[in-house]
Amino acid sequence: MKALVFDGEVRLRSDCPLPVPAPDEALVRVRLAGICGTDLEICRGYKRFRGVLGHEFVGEVVESADSGWAGRRACGEINIACRQCDLCGRGLPTHCRRRRVLGILGHDGAFAEYLTIPLANLHSVPDSVPDDEAVFVEPLAAALRIVQQVPLGSGDRVVVLGDGRLGILCAQVLAGAGATVTVVGHHDEKLSVLRDLGIQAEHLWSGAPGSVDAVVEATGSELGFREAIPMLRPGGTLILKSTRAGLTTADLTAVAVNELHIVGSRCGPFPEAIAALQQETVRVRPLIHGVYSLDQGVRALQRAGEASVLKILLRMEE
Ligand SMILES: [Zn+2]
Ligand SMILES: [Zn+2]
Repeated sequence: MKALVFDGEVRLRSDCPLPVPAPDEALVRVRLAGICGTDLEICRGYKRFRGVLGHEFVGEVVESADSGWAGRRACGEINIACRQCDLCGRGLPTHCRRRRVLGILGHDGAFAEYLTIPLANLHSVPDSVPDDEAVFVEPLAAALRIVQQVPLGSGDRVVVLGDGRLGILCAQVLAGAGATVTVVGHHDEKLSVLRDLGIQAEHLWSGAPGSVDAVVEATGSELGFREAIPMLRPGGTLILKSTRAGLTTADLTAVAVNELHIVGSRCGPFPEAIAALQQETVRVRPLIHGVYSLDQGVRALQRAGEASVLKILLRMEE
């Protein structure tokens, strides 16, 4: 089968073996996949991953031990847990000590004609959610993780640093929860997407220092963390969303003196994400900046890395 593989550099291979599902896994024919910042970071060395890239997908189950799944359209959670270690036992399967992560750690990903994934990871996609929306379930779930972790809503002032793919989803989720949201970003096109969605968006933050209840750091740059700290009121919360290959330096004394909370935030709830798309409380189509065939995958990854570009999708069928 064809797949977009990273082995030190990105290449399209047409000789990849068809993956064989384990007894608890399904074989899924991928219909559409999304390129995310993590894929681009992997190509810069993040997690030292080697294999088929990609973790945001919607596909069709073609083979599984549970015949109920055959032919159904599905998306899938990316963390593959052992369900036996102490952290799985504590109800933290996304932090499983032996976890593999689709297209990121120890398991081939979604930029391929087929993938395998545990049945336990699959979520059925309702007919009312088309492929080009369903492919956003994984990143939207990651945005929804924030409101699971930090009770933000009406009366809370929140700044989202970063006008990228994830920043725009986080801003919509937080605005939907009732918070007063401002996105700070550097790209006119992306800021205007936000304004069209009814969200305040600025090039430079104009608020008073120490005035914000929470900052979501989704810049993907090391500057975000440093910029966030002076914005926060004492006792405020910094939510970290960026996953980067490099290291960050920042003034941690200000964190201690102002008793700030720092919350790392990664993968979130798929059922809530599917519901948000079904109920149209979050809009994802304005984020789509291009759809490429798998054959054009290398070009698609380059395009996804351009500063003004939001979501690039890969269509697997000819
Ligand atoms: Zn992602
Ligand atoms: Zn485990």
